[in-house]
Amino acid sequence: MRVYSRWLLILALGLSVTADAAAETIVLRAARLLDVDSGEFIEPGVVVVDGNRIMALNPDSPPAGAEVIELPGMTLLPGLMDMHTHLNTDVEKGWLYRGVEWTAGDYALLGVKYARIALLTGFTTVRDVGGTFFADIALMRAIEAGTVDGPRMFAAGYSVGTTGGHCDATGYAPGILELGPEQGVADGEAAILRAIRYQIKHGANIVKICATAGVLSFEGSPGIQQYSEEEMRVAVEETHRQGLKIAAHAHGTEGIVAASNAGVDSIEHATILTDEAVKVLKKNGTWIVPTLFQWFEPYDLPPVLDAKNEYMKARVSDSMRKAFKAGVKVMFGTDAGAGPHGVSGREFTAYVEHGMAPLEAIRTATVNAAEMMGIEDRGRIRTGLLADIVAVDGDPLANIRLMEDVKFVMKDGKIYKRPE
Ligand SMILES: [Zn+2]
Repeated sequence: MRVYSRWLLILALGLSVTADAAAETIVLRAARLLDVDSGEFIEPGVVVVDGNRIMALNPDSPPAGAEVIELPGMTLLPGLMDMHTHLNTDVEKGWLYRGVEWTAGDYALLGVKYARIALLTGFTTVRDVGGTFFADIALMRAIEAGTVDGPRMFAAGYSVGTTGGHCDATGYAPGILELGPEQGVADGEAAILRAIRYQIKHGANIVKICATAGVLSFEGSPGIQQYSEEEMRVAVEETHRQGLKIAAHAHGTEGIVAASNAGVDSIEHATILTDEAVKVLKKNGTWIVPTLFQWFEPYDLPPVLDAKNEYMKARVSDSMRKAFKAGVKVMFGTDAGAGPHGVSGREFTAYVEHGMAPLEAIRTATVNAAEMMGIEDRGRIRTGLLADIVAVDGDPLANIRLMEDVKFVMKDGKIYKRPE
């Protein structure tokens, strides 16, 4: 009886919260809004938000009693989506030792800081593709519960990779930080199934595998393939069986081609692309997530990692120009966490500097991400969709760098940032 009445109370509270939110109407009045599908501006850009949904665009008269937010000269855009982040970590001083020093709480608390920064720079949805101690999943839950301010999240738990590979903890003596499938280190079919099922058991709603070596790890050449195509096929089949998307970290050509042929949904980085690899990506319809601007940022890395970074930096520009020109499907991703936080808008600028049209660059973080992830409730400013809306000061198609300085952020109908 007691349990029963408690549920009734929760139900009643839930209903009253919904009703209050729905009663709150906000009108955003900007110079224009960008229809990211057509590439056209709608002028002026007036959006009526009721509760957490977009209720009307440019109505004849704004609803009585609504709060009006004036955004003169500004362009309204859909909330941005960064499809490659690690919000619970960074590469600030001491990061190399965290594997043997940090608790779940340390990662979780750092995530609180970076989730807020991501949101305030315009990112209302992110994928977090590889964390430690399930701190990414805890962060996702805390944001959903309203405990912490941050973007809507997809979180992978631990990335899944080979023993000694990029997703293992390398650089330590034997016996120190030897990880197993539960922490994402998995060789062969049985271990890979265990690793993926364990991440999903603990809340992962996306899977990330490491197809090749990487930069911020201590194995050899950063491009070498680590998982065999057969192993990746096992991972893809299991992830898809569970109705989720699978992302594969891959720098080198062989690993990119094998991951694409194994059927992964997105290739993260895709750093070294030959013409042949571009053809395979096109044929298979595989998305790439370029994580481009981070290569050109200054880092204080140990010499062996710095050498790997330089190797990649020398190759990535050719690859991206080639992929963009060929029309490979691109989804926006920065690698914030392995690169700097708080400056993710630079990724748009990097795409344009590598030959992508500004409108297409904005699409990578809006409609493209929505399409790839199957989240059609966001990614455009349209009646009925979630009220995830940002604004920049001016015309971002004329000056893509405006994306680096988002002035207004609304997520789920709530305003997190207003122009000063
Ligand atoms: Zn990453």
